[in-house]
Amino acid sequence: MTSPCLICGATSWRSCYHGSIRMGSFGKKSPADLDVWECGDCGARYLPPVMADIEAYYKSGEYRDDLSQGNAVDEYFRLTDNDQPHKLDLIGMHQLRGKSVADIGCGAGPFLDLVKGFASRTIAVEPNQCYHESMRQRGHDVYTWAQDVPASLAGQIDAAVSYSVLEHVENPLRFLQDIRRLLKPGGILAISTPNADDWMVENSADYAAFFYRKVHLWYFTAMALRRLAALAGFESCQVTFDHRFDLSNAMVWMRDKRPSGNGRLSFDTTLNAAWREHLIREGRSDYLYAILKVAP
Ligand SMILES: [Zn+2]
Repeated sequence: MTSPCLICGATSWRSCYHGSIRMGSFGKKSPADLDVWECGDCGARYLPPVMADIEAYYKSGEYRDDLSQGNAVDEYFRLTDNDQPHKLDLIGMHQLRGKSVADIGCGAGPFLDLVKGFASRTIAVEPNQCYHESMRQRGHDVYTWAQDVPASLAGQIDAAVSYSVLEHVENPLRFLQDIRRLLKPGGILAISTPNADDWMVENSADYAAFFYRKVHLWYFTAMALRRLAALAGFESCQVTFDHRFDLSNAMVWMRDKRPSGNGRLSFDTTLNAAWREHLIREGRSDYLYAILKVAP
C-alpha cells in the first residue's frame, strides 16, 4: 500500500496480517485473503474498506443485519443494557452530574438513558436512522454525525463517550478532531477499542481471522492510540487495559477454533484472575479504554 496514513501522513506500511477476515457474525469469512497494514510511523493498523459506501452502510442498518442482530430498539437494549454501568464506572458518575454529555456512536442510546437522570443534557450521535425517533422520544438531542452538531454547541459539551466506535470510522484523526470541537476546555472524552496487541491475535491464526473484520478499518495498540489522541489535539490520553474473557475462552479457541464466551471449561477463580491480570499487566488484553482530556 502506498497511500498516506490518514492519521500521521506516513507512507511506510507493512503487511501485519494476510488471510481471511470476518464479514459479520462468527463463520462469515471473506472469500478472498486480505492484508491488514501497519503504519511504520504511528503504529495504527489499517484494513482498506470492502464496503462501497461506508456512511450508507451504517445509516441504513445494514451493519446490524451483518451482525445478525437486526435494528429493533428493544433488541439493542436486550443485547447491551447490562454493559452500560461498566461504561459509567470508567468515567465516574460525579464527572457527569449536572453536565452536558454526548455519546458518539451511541446505538439505540442505552448509555444516555442511564445518565439522563443526573446529566443536564444528553446528546446522541448515531448514524443508524432506525434508532433516531425512539431516542428523541426518550429526551435526547439526536444527530447523525458529530459534524451535524450545530456550531452553537461547539465547545459547550462537558463530556463525551465513544465506546467501540473508533475502529469503525474511515478517518480516526478527523473523528477525534470532530469530537474535540464539541468539548469545553478541560472537557473529557472516554473511548474504548479492541487492543491490537491482544495476545490471542498473535497466538491463534483462527482468532486473528475472527479479530480482523470488515467493519473494523483501524486497529490500535496503546501507543498508537496515545499518538492519535495527541495528533487530534488532546492534552492527555490515559490508557487502561481490560480483558473480558476467561482462560476457558482462550483454551476453547485453541482446541475448537471458535468463540465460546466465558465459563465453558471449568477453571477456578484464582487461575482465571491470574490469566486476566497477566494479560492486563503485559498490555496483551483484548480491550483498551482511554480518557482523553482537552487542555483547560
Ligand atoms: Zn500512521
